[in-house]
Amino acid sequence: MPAGTIGPWELFWILFYALATLGNAGWLREKVCLHMCPYARFQGSLMDAHSLVVGYDAARGEPRRQREAVEAGRASGACIDCTLCVQVCPVGIDIRDGLQYECIGCGVCIDACDQVMDRIGQPRGLIRFADRDGVAQPSGLLKRWWRPRAVVYAVLLGVTVAAMGEGLRVRDPLRFDILRDRGVMARPTESGAVENVYRLKLMNATGAPMTGHLTVRDAEGRALEVESSQTVALAAADTGAMAVSVRLPAERAVAEVGRALPVDFVVEVTQPDQPVREVRGHSTFLVPR
Ligand code: SF4
Ligand code: SF4
Repeated sequence: MPAGTIGPWELFWILFYALATLGNAGWLREKVCLHMCPYARFQGSLMDAHSLVVGYDAARGEPRRQREAVEAGRASGACIDCTLCVQVCPVGIDIRDGLQYECIGCGVCIDACDQVMDRIGQPRGLIRFADRDGVAQPSGLLKRWWRPRAVVYAVLLGVTVAAMGEGLRVRDPLRFDILRDRGVMARPTESGAVENVYRLKLMNATGAPMTGHLTVRDAEGRALEVESSQTVALAAADTGAMAVSVRLPAERAVAEVGRALPVDFVVEVTQPDQPVREVRGHSTFLVPR
C-alpha cells in the first residue's frame, strides 16, 4: 500500500476507536467506571490504611450544622449539610458515608466543599485526599511510600515494564504465517522429486523498509530447493504475500516416503543500519506414498 494512504482495515479500526472513545468518554462517561471497569471491583483489595483516597473528616464535620442547632447554641461540626458534595459527584454518592467502591477519585467534591468552607469562613479540607485513617497526606509521605504493599507493587510494576521493554527489544521485525496450499498438498515432479506449495503472509513489524531472503531447511538444517522467488521487499509497516514451492530431491523423497517432515522457513531480514536478523517459522513437508 503506498505511503500516506489507508486501506479498509485501517479505516475500520480508526472508526472503531473513534466511536468507542466518543461512546465511552462522551456518552457513557462515569457509567463506564461504575458498570464496565473491572478496576473498581478489586481496587479495595489493593489498598491499605495508608492508601491515598478521597475522605471526609468526620471528626471535624460531625455533627452536621443545622440551623436549629446553631440558633440553639448547640455544638456542631463544620459540615453545614448543604449536600453540594453529593450534587456534584458524577457517580452520585455521599462521600460523608465513607469511601465507596463507586468513587472514582475525581476530587470534584473536594473543590465543592472547599468553596463552601471559604464562604462560611472555615478552613478548607473538610473533604480531602487523605489516607484511610484520615491522616493529612503531606506529612510523612516518604515514610508511607516505604511500606511492604507499596514496595511489592513497585517491584511488580518494574518487572512488568522491564518485561515489556525486553519483549519489544527482541520482537521479530518480521511476522509471517505459513499456510499450506490446500489445492496442491504434495505433488511429484517429472524428475521424481516431491513438491509442496505454501503461501506466506508477511508483515513488516517495524517503521523501516526491509528485504527478506527466504530459505527452507529440514530438521537437520539442510536447505531444500525453493522453486520460486526467495526475496521479498516490504515497505515500513507493510504486508505482503508470496507463494513458495519447495522441492525434496528424488533420492530423499524415496527414503522419506509417506512421512511428514518438519521444515523451518527461515527469512533473513535486512534493514538499513541494522544487523541481519533471522526470523523462523515452522511447517511440515508431506511426502506422499
Ligand atoms: S459540601 Fe462540605 S459542607 Fe456541604 S454537605 Fe458536603 S461536606 Fe458538608
Ligand atoms: S471523588 Fe468524585 S466520585 Fe468520589 S465522592 Fe468525590 S465527587 Fe464523587
